[in-house]
Amino acid sequence: MNQNWHATLIRHLLVLISLCLLGGLVSGEYGWSLAIGLALYLGWTLKQLLRLHAWLRNHQPDEAPPDGYGLWGEVFDSIYHLQRRDQRVRGRLQAVIDRVQESTAALRDAVIMLDSDGNLEWWNRAAETLLGLKTPQDGGQPVTNLVRHPRFKEYFEGEHYAEPLEIPSPINDRLRVQLNITRYGNNEHLMLVRDVTRIHQLEQMRKDFVANVSHELRTPLTVIAGYLETLLDNVDDVNPRWARALQQMGQQGARMQTLLNDLLLLAKLEATDYPSDNQPVAVETLLKTVQADAQALSGARGQRISLDVEPGVRLKGSESELRSAFSNLVFNAVKYTQEGGSIRIRWWADAQGAHLTVQDSGPGIEAKHLPRLTERFYRVDSSRASNTGGTGLGLAIVKHVLLRHRGRLEISSVVGHGSTFTCHFPSSQIVTL
Ligand code: ADP
Repeated sequence: MNQNWHATLIRHLLVLISLCLLGGLVSGEYGWSLAIGLALYLGWTLKQLLRLHAWLRNHQPDEAPPDGYGLWGEVFDSIYHLQRRDQRVRGRLQAVIDRVQESTAALRDAVIMLDSDGNLEWWNRAAETLLGLKTPQDGGQPVTNLVRHPRFKEYFEGEHYAEPLEIPSPINDRLRVQLNITRYGNNEHLMLVRDVTRIHQLEQMRKDFVANVSHELRTPLTVIAGYLETLLDNVDDVNPRWARALQQMGQQGARMQTLLNDLLLLAKLEATDYPSDNQPVAVETLLKTVQADAQALSGARGQRISLDVEPGVRLKGSESELRSAFSNLVFNAVKYTQEGGSIRIRWWADAQGAHLTVQDSGPGIEAKHLPRLTERFYRVDSSRASNTGGTGLGLAIVKHVLLRHRGRLEISSVVGHGSTFTCHFPSSQIVTL
């Protein structure tokens, strides 16, 4: 490269002007001589410009620019260096992208990038084996066309991605996959898919074990409870020392029976995603019977149980499941509220969906317990709960029933003032008369 191109340029211009002046001296026409000199220079400059233009338009990736002279040589060289530097940077970036793509391709988890409309942009090899995506045909396709499970469509369109979704793989029913969606950038989605078949099988084994044990215990317990009942019916014939023991055995037997029934109900709820019967349930009538049962349970404790229902709002689902859930909430309120307390049941619908609230004036629950209340066998105060005869499974049943009806449970409580349990159901579950 000519480092001294400033000096060269000035020298050339001086030579040109001198030649023009010489021409003028010889011909006597200074003006014409200068004009011809400048025109020649302009012509040469234009020619260089055209060469540069032709090279910029048609050059091959590694082709050097044409040789130039003076300032033009400098311009050609600078463009060439700029281009080489650009190529080197691009090469380095490509190497980084290649490494990222190689490592994600080697991942056993599927990584899928979706645009803001949910169309496939990029995915790794594991996405082909776990979800059956085909490269490159599926590029640009909506993901809901390729993963057709109804729960996935609902989950994807619902846009609440805090909890992962578990579904069977679209290409192999025996594979169980867990999907995690994260939003990034301009509402694009990154979807991670993990094979959780093994964990699912272990979970299934646990559920089957509990269900089988509960089922197997039911028959012997029924026999024992039957004999106890007979003995209690004829308590006068029994040695008086045994009367109290028999009574307690009867009570504990009944408790074990409710426990087994609750465990079996939970196992049944866990076996499928949605209830098999999806009829409109008359919530109003259902709540009236629950209120009457709660009043009977309350007995002499004098609690006021009020019911406030928006008529004509029905819910799609299983009547027996909803009855278990609602009565668990209302019976809990009766069990844990002191004598003379009040319990308010409300059922209404608004733009967000339908809601059932069970509000009591009981002792309330400390905030630290609230997130764990729906866990199986979780009790705030085990001594108090065993007095009430609860199984510790009631709220777990409520949570499962709500999940199966696309609903969710919200619990709020102020210690000393009472608790409010609210079931929220989406508008899609409502049938209005
Ligand atoms: P349980 O059969 O023991 O009632 P649940 O799952 O129904 O089991 O409830 C779990 C725990 O939540 C209960 O042991 C109780 O401590 C607490 N709880 C539930 N409902 C209420 C309520 N209305 N007021 C106060 N505590 C409640």
